[in-house]
Amino acid sequence: MPECAACGGTGCDACGHEGEFRVAECPLRFVTPDVWEAIEMADLRRRGEPPNPGGSLDQTAIFNDACRAIWAEQARYRARRRTADMMEMF
Ligand SMILES: [Zn+2]
Repeated sequence: MPECAACGGTGCDACGHEGEFRVAECPLRFVTPDVWEAIEMADLRRRGEPPNPGGSLDQTAIFNDACRAIWAEQARYRARRRTADMMEMF
């Protein structure tokens, strides 16, 4: 299950103090068009093509925050995949 974004897995009212987010339907329903666009923009930024001309200081604060959140989640996902792949080796 995905870690609760509200508390980072420590448990809060939003996740029923479980620290995880239960998904009982297709998870793609939670990924709205603006989220897909943010992911695409973060990927472009990583490749050196930010939405606004210039460097990090020329981007909006909310875009920089979104990039950090997206990149952290992507890194966490890759780490979990690597762990799952290693477990399949044994
Ligand atoms: Zn929570």
